[in-house]
Amino acid sequence: MKPLSFEDLKGKVCVITGGAGVLGGALVKAMASVGIKVAIADIDKDTADKVAAEIAAEYGAQVIGVAANVLDKESLVQAKAEINRQFGEIDILINGAGGNSPQATTKVEQMEEKDIDNPADTFYGLQMEGFDKVFALNFKGTVLPTMVFTGDMLKNKKGVVLNISSMNSYKPLTKIPAYSAAKASVNNFTEWLAVHLAKVGIRVNAIAPGFFITHQNRFLVMDEKTGDFSPRGKKIVDNTPMGKFGEPEDLQGTTLYLLSDISGFVTGIVIPVDGGYSAYGGV
Ligand code: NAD
Repeated sequence: MKPLSFEDLKGKVCVITGGAGVLGGALVKAMASVGIKVAIADIDKDTADKVAAEIAAEYGAQVIGVAANVLDKESLVQAKAEINRQFGEIDILINGAGGNSPQATTKVEQMEEKDIDNPADTFYGLQMEGFDKVFALNFKGTVLPTMVFTGDMLKNKKGVVLNISSMNSYKPLTKIPAYSAAKASVNNFTEWLAVHLAKVGIRVNAIAPGFFITHQNRFLVMDEKTGDFSPRGKKIVDNTPMGKFGEPEDLQGTTLYLLSDISGFVTGIVIPVDGGYSAYGGV
């Protein structure tokens, strides 16, 4: 038997939405390191180009930036055409675009009796506009790119989709109901689509990262003035058995495993990469 490796991934074409972000960037590096050609499809084309150029130079890999809005089908269709023109047919999709927003975040974790007459800081003060945006970005922003970017995989009866879920998907975190509900929906959709596509050669899985400090959550977990953890940041570390936030590189091995034929009989699962957070009851 040949030694197991990620050799099967060499020369494959992957599109990763949100790949210009912190976690996405680490996944792009992992893929570049095993010879996958990567298209970073991001709404922030300048950063996508910059990240692509840096990773291409560092790994001697083929990495490009492409403009795409995961909520706009036409922009995804155009992005696909551009990727096909530059790299050929798409074999792998990573749905990485997502995140929370202050507009969809309650100020308090739990409602107290004192909030009843002035509920602005609670669930009742949430603006539906922000709620809708966060839900759409994380859920519809996973569904729509999947519809567009798996076209070549269907034709070739082979491909892999990897969704990026979150700890919120298992048990909602306080303050962020739209993000939590959307990520729970991502898990549900991962299972649904895995079943739907199982007989046409497309595997669908997800990773659920634990806690990593990135642009979208820094305002929640760090105290901007002191640079220390906020009480919420400290709570996270205390509830992560390994006692720390994750480093984006911690997601790389699980990702390559799910993309490779090594996991060829694996579909419809969500793997936590969380330093033990989801296994811990808090006591
Ligand atoms: P990030 O903010 O660093 O990156 C998100 C990227 O998505 C950015 O490059 C942004 O430009 C892009 N994007 C935003 N809206 C878009 C749109 N409409 N169309 C295309 N691209 C768009 O965030 P991150 O922390 O690296 O998050 C990546 C994924 O990991 C997200 O799905 C997030 O929910 C998930 N996640 C993050 C954590 C964490 O601790 N940071 C934990 C669990 C899950």
